[in-house]
Amino acid sequence: MLLLNPGPVTLSERVRQSLLQTDLCHRESEFFDLQDEARERLLGVYGLAPAQWSAVLMTGSGTAALESMIAGLVPAQGKLLIVQNGVYGERIAQIAAQYGIGHAVVRHEWMEAPDLARLDAALGADPAITHVAVIHHETTTGRLNDIAGIDALCQQHGKRLLVDAVSSFGAEAIDFGGNIDAVAATANKCLHGVPGAAFVIARRDALANAASRTYYLDIARLAKLQDQRNTPFTPSVHAYYALVEALREHAEEGGWQGRHQRYAALAEEVRSGLAALGIEALWPAAQSSVVLRAYKLPAGVSYEQLHDGLKARGFVIYAGQGGLSSQLFRISTMGALHAADMHRLVAGFRELLGK
Ligand SMILES: *Cc1c(COP(=O)(O)O)cnc(C)c1O
Repeated sequence: MLLLNPGPVTLSERVRQSLLQTDLCHRESEFFDLQDEARERLLGVYGLAPAQWSAVLMTGSGTAALESMIAGLVPAQGKLLIVQNGVYGERIAQIAAQYGIGHAVVRHEWMEAPDLARLDAALGADPAITHVAVIHHETTTGRLNDIAGIDALCQQHGKRLLVDAVSSFGAEAIDFGGNIDAVAATANKCLHGVPGAAFVIARRDALANAASRTYYLDIARLAKLQDQRNTPFTPSVHAYYALVEALREHAEEGGWQGRHQRYAALAEEVRSGLAALGIEALWPAAQSSVVLRAYKLPAGVSYEQLHDGLKARGFVIYAGQGGLSSQLFRISTMGALHAADMHRLVAGFRELLGK
């Protein structure tokens, strides 16, 4: 079965085999060697200097990393402005509310791109705001949000930026040279590891001012202990094995740029193949990530029909979220997938649509 949902992904054989390594006690030096390699390689994905940045690992899914970032890196008296245009932007607002963090939301329809003029006005109107949070790739619709434009506004207004890059880290460009304080992501999306390991790439000076609102996900404590080749709790050792092997593979395949090109080619195979069958992409390529594309359901065909027919042919596609489920379906090209798989997928659509 090939997974075309946005994570967990179809594993390469190499990453799958990495799970079968020797059992490790997480208090032995072998585990800390593994943890160190994971942390170094994560910074290496975007060429970040360990003197300024820290890769903070945790056991959990992408949401754990997000929660750790939001609960830790908005300081005690800080206020967060959340740019929201999909399910994951809503999730950040829920996390802020849960921790009693002062926050405001610049709300958009799920189909809209972030409106930089509205964001500019919101930043100008409320001097209490210290941080902005945004989703890089809003997996809800496949839209790639303009984090460079948002970062430029943060620089202009003197605000720090926190980014949910859960479904873009390792495959889309991220410029860490501006006001980004941290980026949250996970092992099992564009990096092609298994679920269970997540991480935040954080500036060390932001970690120094972190708040301690959560016990298990306390980012400053995790960072400090990991720097000391230590860990507060039992990590998902096997997920770390897979993450390190996936990061080696990622580097050998040309880093984030190599992965970007690979996804772009696969996504274009699918887009052009489906276009020939009359199935339209939701966005032009320039507004979409290369990681996932949303398509309009063809008239007279339900998502369930498509899903079940493709599953019988060996592919798991993904529904639209919430109110979009009756209008859209989504196809992610993350994971160990190849052009031949995409040809078979398009052939499957052709058969199902009787074309
Ligand atoms: C997948 C995803 C998450 C988190 O998902 P988990 O199920 O917790 O791994 C968060 N944000 C975005 C943009 C995502 O795509």
